Amino acid sequence: MPGEKPGVFDRKIREALSDARLQQAIYTATGRLKESRLNVVSSGVLPDYQELRTQANRLKQHAIDNLDFYLEQFQRNVEARGGRVVFCQNGVAVADFVLALAKERGARLIVKSKSMTTEEIDLNERLEHHGLESVETDLGEYILQLAHERPYHIVAPALHKTRYDVADILSERLHVPRETVIEKQTAIARGVLRQKFLAADIGISGANFIVADSGAIVLVENEGNARLTTSAPKIHIAIAGIEKVIPRAQDLATFLKLLARSATGQLLSVYTSFLSGPRRPGEIDGPDEFYVLLLDNGRTRLLADREKRQTLYCIRCGACLNACPVYRKIGGHSFPWVYSGPIGAILTPQFREVPQEPSLPFASSLCGACAEVCPVKIDIPKILLELRSDAHRHDPPKSQNRWEKLAFRAFAWLMRHPRAYEMAGRMAGSLAAADDAAWISRVPALLNIGPLRAWLSQRDLPPPPPRSFRQLWRQR
Ligand code: SF4
Repeated sequence: MPGEKPGVFDRKIREALSDARLQQAIYTATGRLKESRLNVVSSGVLPDYQELRTQANRLKQHAIDNLDFYLEQFQRNVEARGGRVVFCQNGVAVADFVLALAKERGARLIVKSKSMTTEEIDLNERLEHHGLESVETDLGEYILQLAHERPYHIVAPALHKTRYDVADILSERLHVPRETVIEKQTAIARGVLRQKFLAADIGISGANFIVADSGAIVLVENEGNARLTTSAPKIHIAIAGIEKVIPRAQDLATFLKLLARSATGQLLSVYTSFLSGPRRPGEIDGPDEFYVLLLDNGRTRLLADREKRQTLYCIRCGACLNACPVYRKIGGHSFPWVYSGPIGAILTPQFREVPQEPSLPFASSLCGACAEVCPVKIDIPKILLELRSDAHRHDPPKSQNRWEKLAFRAFAWLMRHPRAYEMAGRMAGSLAAADDAAWISRVPALLNIGPLRAWLSQRDLPPPPPRSFRQLWRQR
């Protein structure tokens, strides 16, 4: 969590790596999501997939570059339909608004649909602290609320829980018989949540998109709980980061195609809701009051940097988490804030400022898999490198010893001189191919001393191959 003591990140990583059951759960679940995405984007159902990504990138860039204009337009359109927009600097401002409204209307019970933005500001905790009951209604989020845990993944919050874990949680917290069949677990949760929907005074949702030209918020989901949250209670409050704005309703044709495919490999999510204002005369359902709270919470700070502001393009699809070899090993709870994986590694230090999360941008192999799958083409590796430079500028490394510096200088020289690099590769290859080359396999063990010990403890140093990539390439 914010302000965690140094070393906590490392400790959590080690714990995750040593938990075989957890490793299996993360690997299986992210693998399934990854494969579903790949199947749907390579199936030919969407031949213009890459073009859509480029289009989405341009639309987001335009929206973020003109954020003030589109937010004002959104506000005007919401208010023209009888809703109200409130700009909130941070989580305290959001909680104050909800608490004041609840007090004024005598509200006690709140139902919530899944929203990373409300997780970001610990909204449930703030509301419960003041005596309100705030119930998560997305199944995964509900399970985690019962278990007092935060989401493990942007899209699949309880991805790390097996059905046996869920059986324990439901029986312990709800005092029901232990049930391991998923359909029966769902029925138990539904039975409880249905009563909460019927009794709730306020429904709180997030927003996947806020549409400037129509004053609508758009919600995508698979369970139908967001529809109940936003239509059953008399008051609906939507809480959205300011970066969620898109200029026109027609732009949704691009984003909705990309979001479901990237998140779960679906062609479209099961429910897509467009909500604009309170219930109008003649309508049979919907709230009497409709509020949209637009949250800053560090977002405007990013606008100053033209390169890093692309972080705000994120549509929270989670594809970068599923593709990331680091996330797939260390999981979501190792990360210091609610946002995990590659997007968490760039978003957390920027929303919360680098000095508080110095090691986060370094938790990446820079393999580039995240950028390859990102539907809005955020150049995550590039931003990670910039954040690493920021971290070094703010707190120059004291421990880099003379040998390490020398090794990096030699490496940098070699990388800048292709001929020398090739020659070094050939020499290493000839040594490996020699008859008496058995000694070479012992080199890693010999190097396992001094500063190299820590490095080698997490990595293999394979012997050089007899022929380099360049040689093989030329032969082909
Ligand atoms: S950074 Fe891109 S891939 Fe990752 S969650 Fe955001 S939109 Fe999805």
